[in-house]
Amino acid sequence: TFQDILPTIKAIVYSFESMAERENIDMEATFPEGEIKGYFDKAKLEKVIYNLLSNAFKYTSSGGTVKIDTETGEEGFKFTVTDTGKGIPKADIPHVFDRFYRVEGSEEKGSGIGLALTRELVVLHNGTISVESESGKGTIFRMNLPLTLDRLPKTAKVVSDDNKRTVIPDKNN
Ligand code: ATP
Ligand code: MG
Repeated sequence: TFQDILPTIKAIVYSFESMAERENIDMEATFPEGEIKGYFDKAKLEKVIYNLLSNAFKYTSSGGTVKIDTETGEEGFKFTVTDTGKGIPKADIPHVFDRFYRVEGSEEKGSGIGLALTRELVVLHNGTISVESESGKGTIFRMNLPLTLDRLPKTAKVVSDDNKRTVIPDKNN
């Protein structure tokens, strides 16, 4: 449906406030004034935002920072999560969107499904998602959604170009 995307984003972001406080992680979120109207699937978008934020908090320890930026421009809606957590080793970066992939030896619990699902849901929106990370320093996930698809395809294909993971929906749907 065509609607303002910000209330959906804000609700998920604010739901992490108590966790931020509990874990002594500084959460900084900035939102533009006004509305960002477009087409998106609310339930799917909620899963995407939830997965990115839960990763940022899971892989960032006490004293760290999780920064959330939202903006809109010619390419549509941009959502960025930057954390000062453990980061991802260089060799693992190309694989983090793969199903069941987890960085070896990580102590945090998980199944390695979150980012694979996240990418699929972003692709369905004809969007893109990419990651930049440095081991021991932190991680940035950038998502872009054009918000122009009034009906999402049922399935979508991922076209990876290195780490940029550009994605296009399956035209047969
Ligand atoms: P779950 O299915 O519960 O989300 P998960 O968090 O292990 O499990 P993904 O969310 O798919 O799985 O992430 C895949 C892997 O990428 C993680 O296991 C972790 O090694 C790495 N990763 C993802 N996000 C971050 C982050 N913000 N900082 C550091 N490593 C990350
Ligand atoms: Mg996860």
